[in-house]
Amino acid sequence: MAGLLPADLPIVDHHCHLSPTGEGVEAARRFRAAGGTHLFLCTQSYGPSPPRTVEGYREQFEITERLGRRVREETGAVVHLVVAPFPVDLVGQVPTMGRPAAVELHREALQLAGRWVRDRRAVALGEVGRPHFPVDEEVRAAAEEVLREAMRSAREAHCPIVVHSEDLDPPAFRALADLAREEGLGPSQVVKHYARKALSLAERSGLPASYVARQETFDRALEGEAPYFFETDFLDDPGRPGAVLDLGTIPKRARAAYAKDPSVSERLRIPFVESVERVYGVRPEPVGAGP
Ligand SMILES: [Zn+2]
Repeated sequence: MAGLLPADLPIVDHHCHLSPTGEGVEAARRFRAAGGTHLFLCTQSYGPSPPRTVEGYREQFEITERLGRRVREETGAVVHLVVAPFPVDLVGQVPTMGRPAAVELHREALQLAGRWVRDRRAVALGEVGRPHFPVDEEVRAAAEEVLREAMRSAREAHCPIVVHSEDLDPPAFRALADLAREEGLGPSQVVKHYARKALSLAERSGLPASYVARQETFDRALEGEAPYFFETDFLDDPGRPGAVLDLGTIPKRARAAYAKDPSVSERLRIPFVESVERVYGVRPEPVGAGP
């Protein structure tokens, strides 16, 4: 394999999805073959429409957990689970169930997600936040209520939230940090997922960014301060090839950067080791050469 990386350097994709009807474990095998070691696997709605009951969310989280276990067993990759009801689910739920019932459903599902964190079945609540496209006033108001609930659940579970939202500029990062503070969360507990533009830690008001690992963002972000991560947001949806980056992207970028300049391995420890420790309180466990 061209551009082998130091054996003690974990290679982490901080946000991806896998589906039982997509490639599933095969995609994770590609990640491992490219040199990847740790995946943060985020739940998603697997059915044709989002869950209507908290039981439905429990089943959804369990599908994610089973996929994560298979990835671990069959590829050796370390998998960290991230679970929560997806904020975009509200777009279908609010008009059909009514806003109070939809908010209550999300509140209960968030409490369930918080229990999974306390039971060490998951490491964070996500994706939580706001639809990234314009929605009507009722859905918008429901999403705001639910985001505060997510922050409260994370505070109780002592874990981070992984935020899905529109692209954030520095004032929007500040507003999110302020909202989190009101609900008792520190800035390092609020991870902005799908960040597209490398910003300084001050411009992010101290919030960790999870950068989409496009080449230019990857290079720019590597010059920045912890905490930050790289992600592909791999969707594992055969119907939407190329909608996001492939799961092999982050190990490939890391290897190419290392082949060009071996001293970059110190910089790579920021997203792959230091940020994981700071935000999640876990030291990435070593992974062998792979099966
Ligand atoms: Zn995602």
